[in-house]
Amino acid sequence: MTTAVQKAPRITLHDAELLAADLYGLDVSAAPLPSERDQNFALRNASGQQFVLKIANPEESLEFLDLQNQLIQFLAVRDLDLQFTHIVRTKAGKAIETIKGEDGHQHFVRLLTWIDGVCFAKVERHDRKLLSSLGRALAQMDAGLAQFSHDAAHRSFYWDLRNAGMARELIGLLPESRRAMIERFFAEWEKIDWSSLRFSVIHNDANDYNILVSQRSEQRVNAILDYGDVVHTATVCDLAIALAYVMLDKPDPIGAAAQVVAAYHETYPLDDTEVEVLYTLAATRLCCSVCFAARQTHEAPDNEYLNISNAPAWRLLEKLSNISLDWPTRIFRYACGLPVVNGQGSTQPQTSVELLSARRRRLGPSLSVSYESPLHIVCGSRQYLYDAGGRRYLDCVNNVAHVGHSHPLVVRAASEQMAILNTNTRYLHEHLLEYCERLTATLPEPLSVVYLVNSGSEANELALRLARAHTGGKDVIVVDSAYHGNTSAMIDLSPYKFDGPSGGGCPSWVHKVSMPDVYRGAHQGPDAGRLSGGEVAAAAQESQGLAAFFCESALSCGGQIILPPGYLSDAYAAVRNAGGVCVADEVQTGFGRAGQYFWMFETQGVVPDIVTLGKPIGNGHPLAAVITTPEIAASFANGMEYFNTFGGNPVSCAVGLAVLDVIRDEELQQNALEVGDYLKQRLRELQKRHSLIGDVRGLGLFIGVEFVRDRKTLEPADVEAAHLVERMKERCVLLSTDGPYHNVIKIKPPMVFSKADADLLISVLDRVLEDSFSTV
Ligand code: PMP
Repeated sequence: MTTAVQKAPRITLHDAELLAADLYGLDVSAAPLPSERDQNFALRNASGQQFVLKIANPEESLEFLDLQNQLIQFLAVRDLDLQFTHIVRTKAGKAIETIKGEDGHQHFVRLLTWIDGVCFAKVERHDRKLLSSLGRALAQMDAGLAQFSHDAAHRSFYWDLRNAGMARELIGLLPESRRAMIERFFAEWEKIDWSSLRFSVIHNDANDYNILVSQRSEQRVNAILDYGDVVHTATVCDLAIALAYVMLDKPDPIGAAAQVVAAYHETYPLDDTEVEVLYTLAATRLCCSVCFAARQTHEAPDNEYLNISNAPAWRLLEKLSNISLDWPTRIFRYACGLPVVNGQGSTQPQTSVELLSARRRRLGPSLSVSYESPLHIVCGSRQYLYDAGGRRYLDCVNNVAHVGHSHPLVVRAASEQMAILNTNTRYLHEHLLEYCERLTATLPEPLSVVYLVNSGSEANELALRLARAHTGGKDVIVVDSAYHGNTSAMIDLSPYKFDGPSGGGCPSWVHKVSMPDVYRGAHQGPDAGRLSGGEVAAAAQESQGLAAFFCESALSCGGQIILPPGYLSDAYAAVRNAGGVCVADEVQTGFGRAGQYFWMFETQGVVPDIVTLGKPIGNGHPLAAVITTPEIAASFANGMEYFNTFGGNPVSCAVGLAVLDVIRDEELQQNALEVGDYLKQRLRELQKRHSLIGDVRGLGLFIGVEFVRDRKTLEPADVEAAHLVERMKERCVLLSTDGPYHNVIKIKPPMVFSKADADLLISVLDRVLEDSFSTV
């Protein structure tokens, strides 16, 4: 049997130039372009204008070429972020012309305008933005094509992944040592229930030579070329095929693919069944490639194009064969914000009423539960939480799940290390030292000595002991409304508690200064930092034996307050002058949340003596840290050993390392900066229309929205804020309030929060404000 590849047209460059002149009146020079079944030429005229001349395989039908032309025109008029070629008509006005080749076969000829760009395969670095732009481009194309139909797309085509069985039959042509590796994927492919998938016309060949990248201002995918493989099949195949090529030669192929999947899903949501088959289909495409290539090299050894992606495909298949089959799907599910594993665990589900009454019986009543009608959350993924009824909530407030709820890499790090060893810091262990190195590398000198503990409270408790050991003093200066932890000493340091219900008031050794709040505080305007810093200086002078100044680098429980410029530098100078040390509580604010900086204290241009870390550090695993200078650590080494049973165990360190890896690899600090700025700007737009919004403030993804009844008197709108939080929750957006008047809505979501999430938050907030309160 002669294959279509063998019948590929073979006209010379010179003939191509003559054709261009004859049919289109163009004076051009031709250069060959790669193609499997057709023959394509790049044409260029004297003024630099370029075209693609396409000579179709004799087996190509007129109807199918008409499909391609119609599809291009259909997409071109849609408002997509993609460029589409124009179909150039012949001098006689025909979109498709017929020629007779030297082989005697008839060939259809088309001329298309050229699109500038570099093909994806030739772009050196596929960064996060480029991968996301590919996901968006494909999703936009697929969403557009969902409305497109043409009889010729309903064809039986060997590159249609439904027909992968045709490639599977060729396994015998592969080297014997590799057959089992390929068969493992085909066996998965065979299990796919195609009837459960969405169908539409798809491009079906977004390989790395068909994807064009514009390199103008910012690298992004600007076109997807070559519609010769278009077919009506399962929509998800389009993405799967692109992923097969995206993964080629990547150090972390699944991570790279996940970036594309996330952006695709955000633009044109995949459903659960599609995500489940995505990895199998991507791997199947690679298997088809190597199987067809084995046959084709055998039949047409001189066709160079056939081998283009063959060697990298084999390298990738080898790599994927070492990964368990369900792992990539978990990553893709996570990328889509779907629960990472299907199912809710083995326990018998209970109703919220049952859980609430059991809770009342078994848990101390001083523990509160959120919302008038409490949520029964059963799983989380990225910035989403799912309740027992399967409702998905956008989590805008959990800064503990810093890199995303149930991040698979963090989960894997914990479970793998748990399966190997979990002991304590009295043994030598690489993880402990590697983690301390990595952590201190993020901090300025001389912050270089680490103590690993289990909670923010414990970290602050230890910080207090360090400060007292180093200074010999006892007194501490704290900022009004601050919360530093739940231990006895930390309650003493937390006005949030000691000034609250049943609080014992400010202890004699604690000196409270007012919040440097430029919105409703005593000091506003350009001097606010200096004047508020002056209050710390006065407190330092007043104290008898100052040990420390504890201050969050942005005030969280105080109402998401950003410190005015110069505040910490003035305060720190005064504290040090009085013999105290400066403790930066970064429990809420650290690890890139500030956007521009990794640590919030850096926004103030200071270097603390002690930094305490918690919440986001372990993405939900109980881990916290104190980092200080060698001098302070030396003062603390006074003979009494400091031992912490769980602090710094190998599992915690593995988790901490994974969190740092994800922040770096997923560029989450940059995301916090971009999305945070965007969200603040959109909140400020909302503020113009809703008089209840008195102030919008924040840095990165640490944002506060303060609600007031009157913008002049600043009367706190606490009831209104609480009402909003409840109504937002009914619409599946989770927020909470804080601040001394409980009128500030906190926004500090997992750092994977996207602009689309910001848009959703804004539109729901807008609607709730509109429905509940009058506008400006
Ligand atoms: N410091 C700050 C600023 C906090 O917000 C908290 C907890 N909300 C803590 C310390 C105490 O951390 P943990 O609850 O982990 O003990």
